[in-house]
Amino acid sequence: MVNPSPVQANSDHRVEYMLVSFDHENRKVQLVLSGEDVLETLQEKGERTNPNHPTLWRPEYGSYMIEGTPGQPYGGTMSEFNTVEDNMRKRRKEATSVLGENQALCTITSFPRLGCPGFTLPEHNPNPEEGGASKSLFFPDEAINKHPRFATLTRNIRHRRGEKVVINVPIFKDKNTPSPFVETFPEDEEAARASKPDHIYMDAMGFGMGNCCLQVTFQACSICEARYLYDQLATICPIVMALSAASPFYRGYVSDIDCRWGVISASVDDRTREERGLEKNRFRISKSRYDSIDSYLSKCGEKYNDIDLTIDKEIYEQLLREGIDHLLAQHVAHLFIRDPLTLFEEKIHLDDANESDHFENIQSTNWQTMRFKPPPPNSDIGWRVEFRPMEVRHMLRLRSSL
Ligand code: GLU
Ligand code: MG
Repeated sequence: MVNPSPVQANSDHRVEYMLVSFDHENRKVQLVLSGEDVLETLQEKGERTNPNHPTLWRPEYGSYMIEGTPGQPYGGTMSEFNTVEDNMRKRRKEATSVLGENQALCTITSFPRLGCPGFTLPEHNPNPEEGGASKSLFFPDEAINKHPRFATLTRNIRHRRGEKVVINVPIFKDKNTPSPFVETFPEDEEAARASKPDHIYMDAMGFGMGNCCLQVTFQACSICEARYLYDQLATICPIVMALSAASPFYRGYVSDIDCRWGVISASVDDRTREERGLEKNRFRISKSRYDSIDSYLSKCGEKYNDIDLTIDKEIYEQLLREGIDHLLAQHVAHLFIRDPLTLFEEKIHLDDANESDHFENIQSTNWQTMRFKPPPPNSDIGWRVEFRPMEVRHMLRLRSSL
């Protein structure tokens, strides 16, 4: 697809998984809140014991989730493609081997009963009262990963927005669906206001970030190739997303959509009322932080840049002054219209010439269909792009059948 060289080393392929428990006797399936322990065991047996271990495991938003990547990036030759499936098989087998009886590692984009009473093991009630991270009527804070980053993101998105997030997904109607389909939430003023008739209402970051996806990072041979690849892949994001679509169920209902994107986008939408254009606005932002890209980066993509881009003007001008070209400067200045969502106190005063934490903090919470990844300072990792729209498909193997 790209001249002059094909995609090179340092490409990876990350899959998010859910830990699921099957109670056959009571015909009950739940999400197991053991992600932190499973992760600890996998890291201890894997990367900490052997730096060349073929798999790497990382935490994800739900405490019923884990994320796996290959231990080493794939190389640049065609034959490397033959190792992708094998590595996925290794990951599944390895993680499944540390699960409890009747538990499985599932690649499910959206767990059908997420947010229904008792959907977790152990069961927990939601915490809508003051003090909760999401204040959700449905999604208990215990289902959020215990690492402080995740609850902090949840709380700060809600605080910045000034209210709980609002997700309304159209209900699928068959002959048995009441019409209009109306749920009432008399106990919760926000929910009563935000929920719409004929929609499945959800009110927490976990309904989106607690879904699973497949992301692929490609290394380019130069910044030029990375910019070109970013633009070329951006155009096929919606197509590949539709091909992978695998998420028709939300909060125990059948919806009239089949893809998680709109749900996850709304689940982290931290824009204020002013930014959403609902009040007299000084500064309007047209999309959530989780959304499609807003501008092309390469010379051949430039002519298709027809969206009026909201940018941080000061940052844009500073970048131009330092010799960055218009396309890249506006891309970065657009990323920086978002506030940081979390900040560690000891990571505030940094040497920006040698550390990119401040950039990465903004970059990693601009969850767009494509991500343009400059190399970290003082490393030999090259220019990369990440392809992010795909859903995961379900594959199931119970531990006992291994
Ligand atoms: N779980 C998110 C999704 O389904 C992706 C989070 C991430 O960027 O790692 O899109
Ligand atoms: Mg992830």
